[in-house]
Amino acid sequence: MRRRPQEPVGDPEGLFDMADLMDAAGTNGTREDRPFRDGPEAGRLLRVTEIHAEPAAAASWRGRQIIARFPGARLVETDSHWRIPHLHGNEGNVERWVRIKSETLVLGERSSLTVRPNGRSADWIAPGLSNGCAMACAYCYVPRRKGYANPITVFTNVDRVLGALGRHIAATGPKREPNQCDERAWVYDIGENGDCSVDDLISDNTADLVHAFRRWPTAKASFATKLVNPDLLRLDPQGRTRIRFSLMPPDDSRLLDIRTSPVPARLAAAADFLDAGYEVHFNLSPVVIRPGWREAWDDLLRMMDDVLPPRVKEQAAAEIIMLTHNEDLHGVNLGWHPRAEEVLWQPDLQQAKRSENGALNVRYRNTVKREAVETLRRVIESRAPWLRVRYAF
Ligand code: SF4
Repeated sequence: MRRRPQEPVGDPEGLFDMADLMDAAGTNGTREDRPFRDGPEAGRLLRVTEIHAEPAAAASWRGRQIIARFPGARLVETDSHWRIPHLHGNEGNVERWVRIKSETLVLGERSSLTVRPNGRSADWIAPGLSNGCAMACAYCYVPRRKGYANPITVFTNVDRVLGALGRHIAATGPKREPNQCDERAWVYDIGENGDCSVDDLISDNTADLVHAFRRWPTAKASFATKLVNPDLLRLDPQGRTRIRFSLMPPDDSRLLDIRTSPVPARLAAAADFLDAGYEVHFNLSPVVIRPGWREAWDDLLRMMDDVLPPRVKEQAAAEIIMLTHNEDLHGVNLGWHPRAEEVLWQPDLQQAKRSENGALNVRYRNTVKREAVETLRRVIESRAPWLRVRYAF
């Protein structure tokens, strides 16, 4: 049975309050001592009542920390974090799509420690310390590999992952030539399958990664985020971590970026993150073509030009990522957020491509995409000429 269609907007549960976010970040001149992760916004995003854990993960130091952090949660033993039948790949979970994300955690040990080449946003994709997200963007590709439900899996074998990264960085040596990823450092994406700012509400995994990259002068961590988590300001990354705030026009974000921080809050936080030692870039993503999209991006880029201080602009760069979508996700979304599909599913503009695992992915037709990228580049040149585009995809 399908859930009655709802019309959620970006923050339908009232998770985030701009004034609270800015207070917590210090942008209103009052910094709270209480960590953001222990505050009301974080509590509304994650109300963990059930933790599924592999035995080794539950027994690990990180696992025990997480279990202690959510003392009211029911602990359920599982053989494999990849196979939890009532959480993964079960169409019935559309009914409780968002609830699973906020109430369930999975603890496991990461088995693959492979560092994969990328060459677009980053030089390398690091083996991440999580998979899944408590936010619920309607276009998110993360759940495709797990089926419909998508609770966060936290990997607890942090030392093995950091060891693999350290060995890869040592074997790779210094970067000899600049490229689109970075002038000097090898860039490792540490958040391919989730949002590191959300992960930091659960454990110190993100902090451990940020701290590790301080020791590696030839490398730089990078992650995209849609959550303003002021606790990350305390990590002292010393320039070795790039945070990429994802941006889209606020109207699109309210429709599509469910449970995320509002776009103005992400922009307002940029200077604080720079001052705290991060490199701050922006992901203009995903670009969704709908009536009025060009004007909406024009407004957003004007807003960026108005609110970002010169020191942020001087070091900023952006990625442009056009929407890709997926037939299965389209079907899921029709069950819980059909309004999103009115803009995401545009067969007249999109072409389909069967992926290696048999899924049907859709992206804008080549000509549509090319013209849209050119249009957006022109808007950037006119409204935010300081914004270097690292790449468009
Ligand atoms: S923030 Fe990123 S990982 Fe989380 S739901 Fe949105 S797109 Fe997916």
